[in-house]
Amino acid sequence: MSLPNSIKNILQKDHGIEITNTSTASGGSINRAYRITAKQGEFFLKYNSSAPNDFFEKEAHGLQELKRAGSRLKIPEVIAVSKPNGSIPGFLLMEWIEEGRSGDSQSFGAELARLHQTRRDSFGLDTDNYIGSLYQQNGNYDEWIDFFVEKRIEPQLKLAFDSGKLSSGIKENWNRLVNQLSDMMPPCRPSLLHGDLWGGNYLFDEGGTAVLIDPAVYYGHPEMDLAFSKMFGGFDRGFYEGYESLTPLEPGFSDRVPVYNMYPLLVHVNLFGGHYTSQFQRFLKSF
Ligand code: ADP
Repeated sequence: MSLPNSIKNILQKDHGIEITNTSTASGGSINRAYRITAKQGEFFLKYNSSAPNDFFEKEAHGLQELKRAGSRLKIPEVIAVSKPNGSIPGFLLMEWIEEGRSGDSQSFGAELARLHQTRRDSFGLDTDNYIGSLYQQNGNYDEWIDFFVEKRIEPQLKLAFDSGKLSSGIKENWNRLVNQLSDMMPPCRPSLLHGDLWGGNYLFDEGGTAVLIDPAVYYGHPEMDLAFSKMFGGFDRGFYEGYESLTPLEPGFSDRVPVYNMYPLLVHVNLFGGHYTSQFQRFLKSF
């Protein structure tokens, strides 16, 4: 499907972008994505006719938050963001990143550790945002565990109970796990996180530099991003070595991974159900 003319017109009229060619870009799981060649250069655009009004604004805000942190990770420059307007879908226009064949995983890991050194006083974020297509509540919390319980796991659990994807019988197991969380998770200061760090949400550019895309940012426990990276098999060994060259992991991290990953797993339960649901139930029933 080609890029709607209504979007092309806005790009031309409001942003002075004189398009010479558009082609579809592959890989997106939620939105339609395009490469735009224009007299002004190459751009990446994604749009979605059924996304909530503020969907792309929140993504743009997340990218800008990561960029402001000033690590040496590359973050695509946001050029324009537009809310849906009548029949014209909302869209996000950003710098085009030419993907390279391979990259420097070690410095990716080290730079993620540097990004995690961006801190603030409370867990959460001043605004809610999205993870994939699901709403992500944030807020401001003094305690990591309270934030994890009230803003990460419980909203997703409620969604799964309300839609019948999970039966409320496992609440007892969840309550038992909640009581153990403060013994499991080491204390931390609120760190800026990518928030949705699976293998599809980074790429290496032509120079081998890691590029973060599609974030669900908030300030949280840095182990959340690392656990997330292990959700589908894990990143290269060099990535973890690079991370630990700056910030060694606390003992027991691998035992905590499935606890942190209850969050992305629940997101998958709510988006896709199926085997994610049985995997989640199996895990929680062990408590
Ligand atoms: P979705 O929100 O639909 O999941 P993504 O933001 O993950 O879409 O982007 C889909 C794919 O497009 C990515 O996997 C990546 O390969 C590519 N991509 C994302 N951002 C850019 C960019 N700025 N330049 C070039 N390609 C990009």
